[in-house]
Amino acid sequence: MLRELAWLLSATPLRTFPMRIHALVLALTLAALPATSQETSVLVARDEQGAAEAWLSPGSDLLVTRPEDGGSGVFLERGSFPRFAPDGRVLYTETLDDGHEILSSRTMVLDPGTRSPRPLRRGERELEYRRPPLSPGDTTAVRVCIDPGHGGTDPGAIGFGLQEKDITLDIALRLRHLLRLDTWNTKGGGSWDVLMTRDDDVYVGLSQRANLANAFGAQSFLSIHVNSFSSSSANGTETYCYLGQSLNAGGMLRNAVHEEAIRAWGLRNRGVKEANFAVLRLTAMPAALAETGFITSPIDIVKLQDPEARAEMALGYLFALQLHHGFQMFDPRPSGGFLGLAR
Ligand SMILES: [Zn+2]
Repeated sequence: MLRELAWLLSATPLRTFPMRIHALVLALTLAALPATSQETSVLVARDEQGAAEAWLSPGSDLLVTRPEDGGSGVFLERGSFPRFAPDGRVLYTETLDDGHEILSSRTMVLDPGTRSPRPLRRGERELEYRRPPLSPGDTTAVRVCIDPGHGGTDPGAIGFGLQEKDITLDIALRLRHLLRLDTWNTKGGGSWDVLMTRDDDVYVGLSQRANLANAFGAQSFLSIHVNSFSSSSANGTETYCYLGQSLNAGGMLRNAVHEEAIRAWGLRNRGVKEANFAVLRLTAMPAALAETGFITSPIDIVKLQDPEARAEMALGYLFALQLHHGFQMFDPRPSGGFLGLAR
């Protein structure tokens, strides 16, 4: 948080001073209060040239503004995934829904200096989120939010004497450990700032999880879950991104997570999917939701109940995050090492 604060301070042009002060007060407030007390806007994204910034107000819309706008800007709905192109365009996803289902989804563009969005033209290139440039010695950390499903009074799915909330937390804690090891280990892999939406057996609401990730400025969001079905015959692994995001950064993250999850456990491949899950809809960064396996399946439970297997899944998620953010696949465990093509 201190580093974030220092960054906010250093990026304060005079022209939009009131807004930056606003955010500064917020950053201080966030630093001092539990995450449930977010009241005002936070910076969720900024392009590298300083041409545009995105702010999120919990409970309202996403505000995209440019320094020359003097504080006025364009309101985007949450879940619209603003993306900044090097030429100053802001791209985002506009969805049409009937209150229940998304009817259509398209990519909209805000050209530099305008406030009238237009649809992406046929053949016009869309540029995805770009990770910070990495060069030898560059220690820029990628901010990643890990979301262990359920918790506290919400056990999630139940089967074979196990509760989903315990399995998701176990895998998430193992993943955090691996991300930390990867950060400390300078021989390869990535450098990570990790936020957990919970690291204990506590209840956290769905929008609160998304708000935590948005306020953190996460560059990736991974929600970990366990599936269930009324029949024990359903089994396998499936992974989700938000509706309409299959070809965008969210879909790419999802695909990487899914591929590594299938490799880790070798369960039935149920494929990659899209869904209107709250944590995918409300997060302002590429987000994936992993259904590791079915707690009601006698096949999948073998993996779900096995601590070794959970560690393997956590390692798979680490690999997925490394690949998604442009790092080389690297096992940072002391007994591990570089996992090249031989894997
Ligand atoms: Zn779940």
